[in-house]
Amino acid sequence: MPMTRREFMAASVGSLVVTSAPGMLAETSNTPKPWYSIMRRCGQINFNETDPLTMDPNAWMDYWASLKVDAVLLNGGGIVAFYPTEVRYQHRSEFLGSRDLFGEMVAAARKRDIRVVARMDCNYAYQEALDAHPEWFECNRDGSVRRAAECPWLFKTCMFSTYFTEQMPAIYREINQRYAPDGFFTNGWPGTGALEICYCPTCRKIYQDQIGGVPPESTDAQSPVYRKYYAVYMERIAEIWKSWNEIAREKNRDSVYVGNLGGALRTVKDVKRLGEVAAWFNADHQGRSENTPIWSCAEQGRVAQSVMDGRTITNVIGAYSDSQPVWRHSSKPAAEATLWMAQVVASGMVPWYHWLGGSPQDNRWREPGRLFFDWLAQNEPHFRNRRSLSKIAVLYPQSTIAFYRSEGKHDRRLNNMVIDPVEYIEGLYYALLEGRFLFDFIHQENLTPERLRPYDVLLLPNAAYLRDSECQAIREYVASGGSIFASFETSRYDEWGTEREDFGLADLFGVHVAGDVIGPFQNSYIHMDRPHPILEGFGETRILPGPEFRVSVGHIEPGTLDLSVIPYYPVFPPEMVYPRKPRTQEPAAVFRELGNSRVVYLPGDVCRTAWRSGSPDLIQLISNSVEWLMRQNAAPVKVTGKGLMEIFAWETEPGFALHILNYTNPNATRPFIREFYPIGPLRVQFAPPAGKKVSRVRTLRAGRDLPFEQRERGVQIEVPAVRDYEVIAFT
Ligand SMILES: [Zn+2]
Repeated sequence: MPMTRREFMAASVGSLVVTSAPGMLAETSNTPKPWYSIMRRCGQINFNETDPLTMDPNAWMDYWASLKVDAVLLNGGGIVAFYPTEVRYQHRSEFLGSRDLFGEMVAAARKRDIRVVARMDCNYAYQEALDAHPEWFECNRDGSVRRAAECPWLFKTCMFSTYFTEQMPAIYREINQRYAPDGFFTNGWPGTGALEICYCPTCRKIYQDQIGGVPPESTDAQSPVYRKYYAVYMERIAEIWKSWNEIAREKNRDSVYVGNLGGALRTVKDVKRLGEVAAWFNADHQGRSENTPIWSCAEQGRVAQSVMDGRTITNVIGAYSDSQPVWRHSSKPAAEATLWMAQVVASGMVPWYHWLGGSPQDNRWREPGRLFFDWLAQNEPHFRNRRSLSKIAVLYPQSTIAFYRSEGKHDRRLNNMVIDPVEYIEGLYYALLEGRFLFDFIHQENLTPERLRPYDVLLLPNAAYLRDSECQAIREYVASGGSIFASFETSRYDEWGTEREDFGLADLFGVHVAGDVIGPFQNSYIHMDRPHPILEGFGETRILPGPEFRVSVGHIEPGTLDLSVIPYYPVFPPEMVYPRKPRTQEPAAVFRELGNSRVVYLPGDVCRTAWRSGSPDLIQLISNSVEWLMRQNAAPVKVTGKGLMEIFAWETEPGFALHILNYTNPNATRPFIREFYPIGPLRVQFAPPAGKKVSRVRTLRAGRDLPFEQRERGVQIEVPAVRDYEVIAFT
C-alpha cells in the first residue's frame, strides 16, 4: 500500500510544530484580539450629497441594530464632508446646513453599541482644490488634468502626490479629534486592478529619479520600465497604507485603516503584498453581471484567504442591482442577495451589507439582509473558523492572470484568438464543483513547505508565469510526497512572461517543449491508448474531445502512452471530416507515479476548453485526475446526491462546519437567481480530523438535529433537503 502524504510526512519528520498554516488564525496568547478580528457582521449606508436634508439617524440605526451588526460604515469625508469640516479644500456637503450628519449618525450608532468606521474617498476633489494645489492631481500625457467620467467637475487625485501624505492625513486627524472612530476605510483605493499611469510633474520626476526614462505608454509586462514601475507603485501603496493605519491609531489605539481591494479572480496589483500590509482585507465584490457565475463570490473568498492566513476579510454585498446596466437604487432579487451572502460566510469572510442613499424609494432590500444576518447572529459560534479541512490546494496564478500574453494591449491574444486568462482557472473550478471536492487557493508567492503541508494535492491551472523559486518549491513539494496536476503552459515562463527554454517543471511533467503553442483547433481529438483509472467511466468510446490549443511536446517512450493526440482534421464539408492519422506518439496527457507522489500533466488547454465548451468529457477528465491524485477515500468529506453545489468545511470554535451552497439553478451563470430549486436528499460522509468524536449533528438553516451513524470512515448522515444553503454543524 502506498503511504498517503500525511503518513509520509508523519513518518519522515516526526512531531512537527506548525506555527502558521493557511486558513489558521494567528493566535498569540497574551495580546487581546483587535475588535475587527472578531467582528461577524457589518453594514453600510452610503450617503449622497443631499442626504443631510432628510436623513434620520435613529431610523437608520434601528435598521442596522435589527441586523445585529458589529460595525457600520458611514461617510465621513474626502470628496464630500458630511460634518462641519475646517480642513481647507475639503468640500462640505452643500446641503449640510447646520447639521453634523456624520456626528449624529456616530452618536446614534454608539447608543446601540455599534462601532463606526469612517468611510472616506481619496480619489477626487473639487476645482477649488485644483486651483490651490494643482500638484495634487493626475495628468494625461498632454498635461490636461483628469476628470471623473460622469462628474467632470471632480478631478482625479494622484496617489504619489501630497494629497495622500498631507491632505488626507489632515482630514483623518480632524475626524479622529472630533469622533475617534473605530476605523477608516477608503472607497475605491487602492483596488486590485490595473495600474494607472499618471503624467503629472511628480510622477514624471519619480520616473526620472527612480525608474529612469519617462512614463510608459502601456502596461506591458515585457517592458523592464513597466516592471520597475510596478515595484515603485506597490511600494507606494504599502507606504501609504501603513502611514494611514498609524494615523488611524493616533487617537484610538484600537482603530484601523482598511483599503478597498476585491477583483475576485482578476487581480493585477500584487495581492500577496497587499495582504502583508492589510490588518483587514476588504473585498469589494458586490455582485455579478453578464456571464459571471454565481460562485464568483466564493472565488473572491478563496483569493482573499490565499493571502490573509485567517485574518479578517470582509466582502461588500450590493443590496442594489449591480448588474449590467447598474441600478444603484433598485433592490437586487432577494434570492441572489441571499446566495451572495451565503458564499461570503461559507468561504470564511464577514458580510458587509451595502445600500446607497439615505431615503430609499425601493425598500425590498431590507428584509433579505435582516433575515440572513439575524440567522447568522443566532448561529455565530459556528462561523468562527479555526482552519480549513481541505487537502487540495489550487495554485492562485496571479502573474498569469495579471500578465499572460498581455503584451501591453488590452486584448490578450493567443495565435490571434482573443482569450481571457481567468478561463483556465474557471474550468478547473467548475470541474472541482462537479466533483464535490474541498479545496483552498494558495497564492503562488506563498508556496512554502509550511503552507503546503496540509495539502495532499496541488493543482496548477495553466500557471504559465512562475518564478524559478516557485518552480523549486513545487519540486520540493513533490519530493516530500505531494501530488500535482498541471495543464498547458504551466511554468513555461518566468513571472513576467520571459520564455524559458523548456517547462520550468519539465522534470516533473516527464515531457519537454517541442514547439510553440498550436491552435485554435476545432475538431481535434484525444485517443485513449490503454486503460487507466483516470479513464474509467467514459463508456463506449475510444476518443475524447481535444482541447482548443496545446503545447507541442516531445514523444515519450513507446508503450507508455495513456492518451495521445489525434491531429485536427476539417469540420466542413462533411465529405472531408475524417482523421488523416488515427493516433500519434504525441502525448495528450502524462500520468506519472514518482515515489509516493503522483503527477498529471495535460499539454492542452483542457481547463479553458472545458469552461468554454462545457464538455462533460473534459470536465470528467479533470475531475477523474483529481480523484486519482487524492487516492481512494482520502477526502475528509463526501457528498452524494443530485445537484450542482459548492462545499466548504472548517474546523470551528465549537467543532466542525460543513457548508453546502446550492447552485442548481437556471440562473447560475447569469444574473439573477430569483428562486431556489431545492436539492436532496444528500448523503454526507464526514471524517473528523484525528478521529475526533461527534456527539451532535445539526443543520443550521433548517434548524434541526439530524440522526447520524459513526463508522470507521466517519460520520454518516442524510440531509433531507437544501433550499439555498445549509450549514451542518458537527459538535
Ligand atoms: Zn501623478
